[in-house]
Amino acid sequence: MSHFPFITVAIDGGAASGKSSSSRTLSERFNLLHVDTGSFYRAITAEFLRRNVPATDLPAVQAVVAGLQLSTRVNGRSAMMAVGGSVVPEAEIRRREVNDHVSHFAAIPEVRTALLAYQRGQAGVARERGFRGLVMEGRDIGSVIFPDATFRFFLHADPLERARRRAREGGDDSIAERDRLDSSRKTAPLACPPGAISIDTTFLTLPEVVETMAAPIAAQLSR
Ligand code: C5P
Repeated sequence: MSHFPFITVAIDGGAASGKSSSSRTLSERFNLLHVDTGSFYRAITAEFLRRNVPATDLPAVQAVVAGLQLSTRVNGRSAMMAVGGSVVPEAEIRRREVNDHVSHFAAIPEVRTALLAYQRGQAGVARERGFRGLVMEGRDIGSVIFPDATFRFFLHADPLERARRRAREGGDDSIAERDRLDSSRKTAPLACPPGAISIDTTFLTLPEVVETMAAPIAAQLSR
């Protein structure tokens, strides 16, 4: 058993706001399990697409959700979600069709409920594997999944800068449309939760974004 206190770091923000790069760096720096919940919604979306279930067919969506067998593989410091025992490959969850459909499935309350306990359960995975804590990125981590997280950050950036970043990554992604859908949905909309530390990353480099988050974490850990 570790004698350090277990820490939870919640990082929320829109598409291409800098969440993934900064949470990966924090996971390395502080030995935290990195959990990218966007990849979970993407993997489930790939499953719906594979089964030809549209987001508008609620009974069919519910039937798929009821039968989902979710488990976790830890690869390095990253938690990977397995659906029916297999991790859906990166190339599959990042493809255009998944980009276009994921926000529609993510807006369905039954889909979010199906992932709620699984996401919270990643804290147990992190403890079992001897991590000092976990850093979880998404849209509703500081508001719904871990409202009592040790640290809650909300990243945002100018839409043009985010589109530029995604284009540099080579992504074919309608981030403005996903943000519109994610911010306007009724269940767990994308928004800065009260009390979270809001960081505008438009004019910051990645190391500067990481430092802004790492400073209070390091201060707490050294107490
Ligand atoms: O983070 P990423 O852009 O890969 O997330 C893909 C989509 O998954 C988001 O646009 C959103 O619709 C959904 N999502 C969510 N809640 C989360 C994480 C992702 O609704 N916690």
